[in-house]
Amino acid sequence: MKEEGKSRKRKRQKHRKTLNPKLRQSPKNQNDKKRPRETKPHQVHEQGGSSASSKRSKSSNFLDMLRARLAGGHFRMLNEKLYTCTGKEALDYFKEDPEMFDMYHTGYQEQMSHWPELPVNTIINWLKSRSPSLVVADFGCGDARLAKSVKNKVFSFDLVAKDPSVIACDMSNIPLESSSVDVAVFCLSLMGTNYSSYIREAHRVLRPSGWLLIAEVKSRFDPNNGGADPKAFVKAVCDLGFTSVSKDFSNKMFILFQFQKKENPNLKRKEVEWPELKPCLYKRR
Ligand code: SAH
Repeated sequence: MKEEGKSRKRKRQKHRKTLNPKLRQSPKNQNDKKRPRETKPHQVHEQGGSSASSKRSKSSNFLDMLRARLAGGHFRMLNEKLYTCTGKEALDYFKEDPEMFDMYHTGYQEQMSHWPELPVNTIINWLKSRSPSLVVADFGCGDARLAKSVKNKVFSFDLVAKDPSVIACDMSNIPLESSSVDVAVFCLSLMGTNYSSYIREAHRVLRPSGWLLIAEVKSRFDPNNGGADPKAFVKAVCDLGFTSVSKDFSNKMFILFQFQKKENPNLKRKEVEWPELKPCLYKRR
């Protein structure tokens, strides 16, 4: 067994013992029928406070810890699934079991709470520094934090509507007219294996010169660690019909790409070569 596995097992055993004091007894003591009432193991050997309420709080702390672990495991499983299936498969999955979406987002928020800066806030600030008349489409909006934080008209799309303002759909096919928005946002949402079809959809709904903002986890663009070459990604987006405006690598956790839709897209459509974007697998915490 790996060292990490062993230490986890040791921790589990320690917690079992905390919950069930009998496990701390030697077999001999457990069978000692003559033991007087007041020397019940959990009364005698409990350390750090013997009141019933302290015991209850210990076991409820333990249950909370177990729940958090289970939730963390579920989140990582769902997260991996979203990165390894198509948007359509993900949509069908959550239609069948919408509760899983809440499970995913609870875990996602937990992970985000460890990030020094949220990419969605960077995008919110970008929007606040421009005209509120810009119409925005937020692809993979989560809890629609973006829409709630700016004055702009924002259309929010996600697989499940966590908020009444969200339109539930697969973002490779959103219910907006062509050339109808000024800004398309993907904030940590290029998850499906068919991610290029989401960017194509953004290209369709953007007006000429409209902005495409993509914030993605840095490790997905680290070629030294199996990630995509950011240059290959930028080239693919440009071949689709955008101009690259900037790439910001200054944040520790994410990259922010800014593109603008070309005024006159090439009439001759190029075959676009999209690099594979590896899944972002979150650490167990
Ligand atoms: N943009 C939000 C949420 C990021 S989590 C934020 O920054 O806080 C990524 C979100 O993308 C998830 O809510 C996930 O459901 C959504 N998503 C992934 N693939 C999608 C698809 N094909 N269609 C719609 N939403 C998708």
